[in-house]
Amino acid sequence: MRVYLDHNATTPVNADVADLVRRCMLEVFANPHSLHGFGVEARRMVEEARQRVASLLGVDEDEIIFTGSGTEADNLAIVGGARLIRKKTGRNKVVTSAIEHPAVLRTVEALKEEDFETVFVPAKPNGVVDMDAFCEALDDKTALASLMLANNETGVLQPVREAAKRAHKVGALMHSDVVQAVGKIEVNLRDLDVDLAALSGHKFYAPKGVGALFIRRGVRIEPIIFGGGHERGLRPATLNVPGIAGMGLAAKIAKDNLKENVSKISEMRDRFEQLVQERIPEIAINGGNAPRLPNTSNISFRFIEGEAVLFDLDRAGIAVSSGSACSSGKAEPSHVLTAMGLEAGLARASIRFSFGAANSPEQVEYVVEKLVESVERLRKMSPLWEDAKGRQKQ
Ligand code: PLP
Repeated sequence: MRVYLDHNATTPVNADVADLVRRCMLEVFANPHSLHGFGVEARRMVEEARQRVASLLGVDEDEIIFTGSGTEADNLAIVGGARLIRKKTGRNKVVTSAIEHPAVLRTVEALKEEDFETVFVPAKPNGVVDMDAFCEALDDKTALASLMLANNETGVLQPVREAAKRAHKVGALMHSDVVQAVGKIEVNLRDLDVDLAALSGHKFYAPKGVGALFIRRGVRIEPIIFGGGHERGLRPATLNVPGIAGMGLAAKIAKDNLKENVSKISEMRDRFEQLVQERIPEIAINGGNAPRLPNTSNISFRFIEGEAVLFDLDRAGIAVSSGSACSSGKAEPSHVLTAMGLEAGLARASIRFSFGAANSPEQVEYVVEKLVESVERLRKMSPLWEDAKGRQKQ
């Protein structure tokens, strides 16, 4: 059996989306900025996609620009927003959380090099960012605040609406990385009251290498790359029409199937956690007590290395992640779990299981069997586990 439980790293492309992408590549190949009929046809595809992405997010199509990735959308929002605000007002502070994806963390760190004051607010042990500290950091020097909607490692949902309210109170722009939430839960950017929001197609069954940035009507940012006047001059480059059209269709499919998918996927995730809790002692579900994405389960298996479990599961045909996929290969414990206060050993003992629409209850049973085997095998070899058992007996 082959089981893919790494949907937070990326999703497979939906078959109808793949068909559309292929058709676009072969038939709608013109530059959407060309004035001839071929170009008009391509432009129509792009505008339909813009409308579909906007509709998924509860906003208007003129508030969406297309980018080459979620990372690029985050960079454009944060750097383009903060730089312009500083030019206009002199404000030079950026506030974010310590549990952001590197697409935000590294971007804010880069602004430090431009003499912005930066604040990275830690999370509480349940995985929710400490809102008292976040709000305390916001002041009349703040140009921009950024808080992700759903954490990619734990799935824990963050109080973005509250953060936006406080950011606006001090006159700052509010950005949110909604990359992991889109397609997994309902995301209404109007309700969240954010000014800028980044998303990425490959997290909701569109191809990789296409993203979008929501820019609330009336909000101004400046470009961070320079070229032609595409996407209102904010993202110059010939548009990736097949990718954009694919993301548009994926957005429509996500919207049409959201309720059904949420209930199916959360049922599987909850059953999985129930079985793991019943069958494996000494585990901790990271973020398990906070509101979470319905598809994500981040579990620490005390006394062993998450990476070792990952390789055992891989041999059984099961794909999971230890830490976030973008930082795997590095030996350091996850910055997200560390920012929640987990000690390094427990952070390194963690595995992220992220479910998707094509998983089945039978796969859940299979994964639990293989997981039990792996954890038992690894703990038998772990001196820490033997010590802990010895202490329990005394
Ligand atoms: N933000 C979050 C929360 C993510 O999980 C990811 C991808 O893992 C990104 C941003 C980056 O998106 P992309 O891969 O499209 O650059």
